[in-house]
Amino acid sequence: MYIDTLIQQLCSTRRLDQTQWAALLRDAGAQDAERLAQAARAEAIAQFGKKIYIRGLIEFTNYCRNDCYYCGIRRSNVKAQRYRLAPEDILACCAEGYALGFRTFVLQGGEDAGFSDDLLCRTVETIKKRWSDCAVTLSVGERDRCVYQSFFEAGADRYLLRHETADEAHYRRLHPAALSLTRRKECLWALKEIGFQVGAGFMVGSPGQTAETLAEDLLFLQQLQPHMVGIGPFLPHKDTPFAQESSGSTEQTLLLLSCVRLMLPQVLLPATTALGTAAVDGRERGILAGANVVMPNLSPLSVRKKYMLYDNKICTSDESAQCRSCLQRRLASIGYEWAVDRGDSPLLGTLHASAGIVTEQNG
Ligand code: SF4
Repeated sequence: MYIDTLIQQLCSTRRLDQTQWAALLRDAGAQDAERLAQAARAEAIAQFGKKIYIRGLIEFTNYCRNDCYYCGIRRSNVKAQRYRLAPEDILACCAEGYALGFRTFVLQGGEDAGFSDDLLCRTVETIKKRWSDCAVTLSVGERDRCVYQSFFEAGADRYLLRHETADEAHYRRLHPAALSLTRRKECLWALKEIGFQVGAGFMVGSPGQTAETLAEDLLFLQQLQPHMVGIGPFLPHKDTPFAQESSGSTEQTLLLLSCVRLMLPQVLLPATTALGTAAVDGRERGILAGANVVMPNLSPLSVRKKYMLYDNKICTSDESAQCRSCLQRRLASIGYEWAVDRGDSPLLGTLHASAGIVTEQNG
């Protein structure tokens, strides 16, 4: 009965407090999850129709100076085969993606000093010049504010930086002492102030996570009001300190997707590759739980297996064109379709008005 009341409150006010979130996440049963999924799916359809935004993911470097305990490309993993794409390789991925109908390119990598900020700016400028109807998303970790500013001025539209956990003690469980939750949050606020469409997010089921820490995550998202939220199950990687930890659950991930859709109705919400790895129909179930984005891989086949953040990642041996037809089939099987569209955040107008920014490209 109490859970019913919480679901009603979430649907009507978009808000729960810390205790209520924790109770919902701890006590919701399968029927409650289905009710939440139905409401979240209806909300996503009201906002975006049955079109799914597609982002082409280009994993351009797996070098990283950091050592996050959960990550397969952490610097201490000496077994990782390191690679760094040249700008021409990145541009070739974009050309292939454009022909396949991608209108957003996500350049993702570790915090790699070997691929300089300047080179990244010039690469973004070239992409924006060659494919002016496309958006560029960067996902390259923590940088100084002035560097973020230079990325934005080079034409980058969006930035993904998962916060991973908003709880200080839990953050310490997942990261070495050199990394700080305060700095992570400062980066997210800076990105927002600069004018990026900003994505935060977290893993579900990471070691030490509880209903209470998840409640903190949701409250942080409520406060940040990001344009995108990336949520996927924690999946262990065999060459990390968390190799023996259990994976996060698909059901709990789906529940959280629904909660986020209902809390932030206009958010861009991917059904992640990690969800597709945890369950064979994970991405379809993610869409049916309120997600509206998928991010297929456009990286060259030769490097796909080297960008292993977790074990058994899917789609590491398929050509981009194969990925596209597979995904189109999967979407069609649940009554959705691939949108050939930049897929900007509906909040963009609001953001630019509040920041006093007017840009033609995003208008
Ligand atoms: S999670 Fe990101 S910052 Fe941490 S080690 Fe992996 S690539 Fe580097």
